[in-house]
Amino acid sequence: TAMYEAKRTGRGRYVVFDPAMHERLARSVATEADLRLALQRNELFVVYQPVVDLQRGGPCGVEALVRWRHPQRGLVSPLEFIAVAEESGLIVALGAHVLRTACQQLAAWQRSLGAQAPASVAVNLSAVQLRQPSLVAEVQRCVAEAGIAPGALQLEVTESLAAQDETARARLREIKALGVRIALDDFGTGYSSLACLHQLPVDTVKIDRSFVSHAETSDYHRVLIEATIRVARTLGMDTVAEGIETPSQAALLQRLDCGRGQGYLWSPPLAAEAVAPWLLQRPPQRAAA
Ligand code: C2E
Ligand code: MG
Ligand code: MG
Ligand code: MG
Repeated sequence: TAMYEAKRTGRGRYVVFDPAMHERLARSVATEADLRLALQRNELFVVYQPVVDLQRGGPCGVEALVRWRHPQRGLVSPLEFIAVAEESGLIVALGAHVLRTACQQLAAWQRSLGAQAPASVAVNLSAVQLRQPSLVAEVQRCVAEAGIAPGALQLEVTESLAAQDETARARLREIKALGVRIALDDFGTGYSSLACLHQLPVDTVKIDRSFVSHAETSDYHRVLIEATIRVARTLGMDTVAEGIETPSQAALLQRLDCGRGQGYLWSPPLAAEAVAPWLLQRPPQRAAA
């Protein structure tokens, strides 16, 4: 790539960039303006990926994942707009919308499906949201307005976020005190380690997909998964394996005593209307050894 001097900043430092970088910058600026409109125009919606109980078999919950239907660009991945939403502060409004929607949706499933409703709904939280002192009251209000049990809501935070910052940990403890459960998302990819796990106010550890995908071919990854599950169990925490795509991965994770699983083997994230049919057909547990 042709690198060239782009600009001299006020502080006298040189910023060098290439055309691809300019392209990305222009795109993210467009995304921020568009994202602001998207919130007003209701272009954001929530899909739900089933989570299954690996030991007993059968569905046990769902994870809420945000989607954006852009009028020109079509479906935009959260991997593309969550970072932009975080940088611009829009994540606070976006996150509140997802949280409220997910709690209301769980209440609706409980009304229509009774005992067949998902036992819990998981919602992803960004570091920016965790820095807002108002988050705790917000979570409490969403749960109360929906009329769901606090224990039916699980909030997912990434390990670096939960581990690094004492303010964040204190906020998580306040949320836990409401009865809401906390999961450590993408475990294995961040800064923290098994040695820090006992300091974190979490109920569940989610083993990252990158470990699951190497579990059968790499001793290192498999042993790390095994150790994570054993340490988590010792601390009274449950475990979820992310990104299970094959029956043999499911069987391995089941053998390693992982509590729950999530992945394309069972289902991709589904539109809200597609969840009840999926639950009612109760697909056979293909992991059964
Ligand atoms: P995550 O929380 O780790 O969610 C799991 C991601 O893995 C989802 O991607 C899901 O669609 C994908 N996935 C699930 N099973 C499989 C599988 O078997 N194979 C593969 N290849 N992928 C699988 P998605 O929906 O694109 O979300 C990506 C990330 O964006 C999420 O990762 C989460 O960090 C973030 N995100 C999504 N929705 C929200 C939200 O409402 N708020 C915040 N703050 N972040 C969100
Ligand atoms: Mg998650
Ligand atoms: Mg995850
Ligand atoms: Mg992940």
